[in-house]
Amino acid sequence: MTSRSFATLRLAEPIQRALIARGYAAPTPIQAQAIPHLLAGRDLLGIAQTGTGKTAAFALPILQILASSPRRPAPRAPRALVLTPTRELAAQIEDSFSGYGQNLHLRLAVVFGGVGQDSQVRALRPGLDVLVATPGRLLDLIGQGHADLRHVEIFVLDEADRMLDMGFLPDVRRVIGQLPKNRQSLLFSATMPSDIVQLAGTILRDPVRVEVAPQATTVERVRQSVILVEKPAKPGVLAALLQDPSITSALVFTRTRHGADRVARGLRKQGIRVEAIHGDKSQSARERALDGFRAGSILVLVATDIAARGIDVPGITHVINYDLPNIPESYVHRIGRTARAGREGTAISFCGSDERPYLRDIEKLIRCRIPVIPGPAPLKPPPETKERVAHAPARPAPRPAHPPTRHQPHTSRGPRHGTPARPQRHGHGPAHGHGTPARQQRHDHGHGTPARRPAHPPRHKGHGGRPHGHR
Ligand code: AMP
Repeated sequence: MTSRSFATLRLAEPIQRALIARGYAAPTPIQAQAIPHLLAGRDLLGIAQTGTGKTAAFALPILQILASSPRRPAPRAPRALVLTPTRELAAQIEDSFSGYGQNLHLRLAVVFGGVGQDSQVRALRPGLDVLVATPGRLLDLIGQGHADLRHVEIFVLDEADRMLDMGFLPDVRRVIGQLPKNRQSLLFSATMPSDIVQLAGTILRDPVRVEVAPQATTVERVRQSVILVEKPAKPGVLAALLQDPSITSALVFTRTRHGADRVARGLRKQGIRVEAIHGDKSQSARERALDGFRAGSILVLVATDIAARGIDVPGITHVINYDLPNIPESYVHRIGRTARAGREGTAISFCGSDERPYLRDIEKLIRCRIPVIPGPAPLKPPPETKERVAHAPARPAPRPAHPPTRHQPHTSRGPRHGTPARPQRHGHGPAHGHGTPARQQRHDHGHGTPARRPAHPPRHKGHGGRPHGHR
């Protein structure tokens, strides 16, 4: 199926040229399976997660359908609507549409909350071919008379299970209530909880069902391991882990926004190029962080589940679960950020004794046992973790002779791989060989002291005044 070319999918020449420009040689399985049905006007239920190429699976046929029946859109009305849960995802989907549609002359826009709406209102006014939106802002705009969904020909509900997790289903239903009955509808979801099955039943008509990369496929491509480590030791173990030179781009997950900030601060103090992204950050700060991460000037991005939704950064070598998610599906979503597009990836999860039930749930979902590996000896915890600052007098940190870098040569002392940080209390697996060097000497050499490496100036992507927002 993957050897099929885009030409056999009967995609128009300007679209094929855009795909060649992006270096796409052949459709991914979901594209090969979905595109012919979508071009034939069928409704579709796509069970697929990000990383499978699902965005192009709906964007390409939508572009083709719209371009082959050009018509002047009604004022404030989109011809195609893509509803997606987060602003990052919305911006990325719109980026994909504009990339795949670069040789077409279609009008696209994205709207989401958290930013001013004026530019969004202006973008909507003349009518659009494609509108990508998050539900809350779209409803606001509809309520104010700035958007009109009565002329939608194609509707895509993306990441439906995330919409459910994030409590957006009532908003989604309200948006659907605005759509005309006569339309083509697509629903994508990584999982199919009963609420989504029900929703699919109400919005899709005789849909084609396409299911690709069942979770196990992604899961299998990722080398997974668990380090049993209690909460107070996590900062030091994380900092030690990140000394591994094979980690060239790491996404670290925390359960809370607060936690993300604390972890990022701690790592920064260890001289690691890090940024945090979460819902409290401004849109421009999030974009700067993501751009830096993509460009490689930021080594570690610390994120919450919601903020990480839709992050599409090829080449993430490691996903580190600083906290285990309490929703097992989130684990699968998280580790799917690495091992993208056929690459390999590594996921390392910290698990405190209070998180053992989460680990059991995850193992049940993915139907395999995640091997426990010994953690590296912790680097000195950064001085501002709660435990340390509580009563410790402020002490100016000595300047290190030279700033620490991650890519220092290995010292001859200490083994490189899987050195147990402490006796394994729960250990039930051998060291897994994830290339986790134990650099316990590092802080003895004064490397654990604060030292900021000058980060490369982040390349600002600039969305050309395109509207942004969330929800
Ligand atoms: P998605 O699942 O839509 O988030 O896409 C995952 C990644 O795969 C994105 O970086 C896409 O640019 C990329 N991608 C999508 N389709 C193809 C393809 N046919 N060939 C190569 N890369 C692709």
